[in-house]
Amino acid sequence: MELYRLLHEQGFGSRKACRKLVEYGLVEIDGVVADDYRQPVDPAAIGELVVDGEPWTLLEGPLYLMLYKPPGYETSHKPMHNPSVFSLLPWQFSELGITAVGRLDVDTTGLLLLTTDGQFVHALTSPKRHVPKHYEVILKHPVSETLVAHLKKGVYLKDDDEKVAADAVEVLSEHSILMTITQGRYHQVKRMIAAAGNRVEALHRQGIGTLALAELDEGEWRHLTPDELAAFG
Ligand code: URA
Repeated sequence: MELYRLLHEQGFGSRKACRKLVEYGLVEIDGVVADDYRQPVDPAAIGELVVDGEPWTLLEGPLYLMLYKPPGYETSHKPMHNPSVFSLLPWQFSELGITAVGRLDVDTTGLLLLTTDGQFVHALTSPKRHVPKHYEVILKHPVSETLVAHLKKGVYLKDDDEKVAADAVEVLSEHSILMTITQGRYHQVKRMIAAAGNRVEALHRQGIGTLALAELDEGEWRHLTPDELAAFG
């Protein structure tokens, strides 16, 4: 493959922009500045690629990432009032068409999946799939038995004919619960809690399916492992 095409495939911009990167002497392969954008390259044989002073780990195939979303970020490529979650990732990933698998509200924290694989988004967000999403919910008013019963039995959300129920509700403390839902309606947790007579003060997604945030800190991301990806299969 020609060098500029490889750069393009890695998300470094248009083919023209990638040719310019090489012409300006900004691309180094194994310590040697490349001077011909048409130079044939074998990605498997490249030890170290440095572009514009930054080392780059070559990507293979679609991207599947997990991000620990901090508060104050919008799950959108065109945020209105806050920075975008995509600004927490290398800009090249946006060039490659990365999208979020569902959305978290601006004030919600926790696990967000991101991918360049449109079928993966579709599969995981399909109402038929029932992928469990686990939320830790901090409540304004103390947890009551009625609240838990309402959430488990189901509540009516505006514009819905059928009740929406939580799959599981575990009381964590006087003001917090762990709630699992398998649907993905707009502001679902906040609306369910409101319909059940309480109010969400803070919301944190701990996990999706068997995948948990584990070792990441706020704002950090990593690639999913093949096993983690297979678990969604
Ligand atoms: N439910 C909500 O209300 N907000 C989120 O961000 C996620 C689920």
